[in-house]
Amino acid sequence: MRIARFSIDGNVAFGAVEGDSPDDLVLDIIKGIPYADFELSGVKVPLSKVRLLPPVLPSKVVAIGRNYAEHAAELGNEVPDIPVAFLKPSTAVTGPGDPIAYPSFSSELHHEAELAVVIGRMCREVPRERVKDVIFGYTCANDVTARDVQKREKQWARAKGFDTSCPLGPWVETGLDPAAIADGLAIQCTVNGEQRQLGRTSDMVRSVEDLIVHITEAMTLLPGDVILTGTPAGVGPLNVGDEVAVTIEGIGTLTNKVIKRD
Ligand code: MG
Repeated sequence: MRIARFSIDGNVAFGAVEGDSPDDLVLDIIKGIPYADFELSGVKVPLSKVRLLPPVLPSKVVAIGRNYAEHAAELGNEVPDIPVAFLKPSTAVTGPGDPIAYPSFSSELHHEAELAVVIGRMCREVPRERVKDVIFGYTCANDVTARDVQKREKQWARAKGFDTSCPLGPWVETGLDPAAIADGLAIQCTVNGEQRQLGRTSDMVRSVEDLIVHITEAMTLLPGDVILTGTPAGVGPLNVGDEVAVTIEGIGTLTNKVIKRD
């Protein structure tokens, strides 16, 4: 099931996305909270009549760096022995179709297309065999990075944590088979329609299971928290006016436009 969060006439709701044709999608409004028990209301609205919001409001986004060998190499880095983990704050999250605001302290903004895992229940110290029980679903993410700032500052809080640096969406796909991720879903990034990144999730150095075990050794994850699993090779610049799209096979496409920050 694809679960979107949206606003209509000033109200915010979750809905199950129905239909196959991108121009013809309908939302069946959800009664209750998607992470717990819920029902479909049967009240339907065309997706074209609503504004999609970030599909979740995470308390935190935990991101993993250098999890695709070719991407680590393109920036002159080794794949680390221990995964590089960092946090993107909740205020970095923005939704499908929302602008990415180019920050004033950078002149080298990069896109990073990533598979995002959405957590469905509170969890800590999750053993490998229980990982599947704590995953709610998957969405597309763009780990937008001020590359120049990342190079000159030891910690990445500003380079990867500025406002709008974490577009998520367009919805959460809850039916994705973890085996399909291991087998390799295509993950693509285009800028103004031109392909920049094309990888497969099977190229991840550490699997989703590895990453959740590693992260929850350290911290409690809450429903709606998001794990970013790293980006394939092909990262590159974003400029004001660009339209950047992240597409993951079996999930959908997340599109955002880059604007100058006010
Ligand atoms: Mg990244």
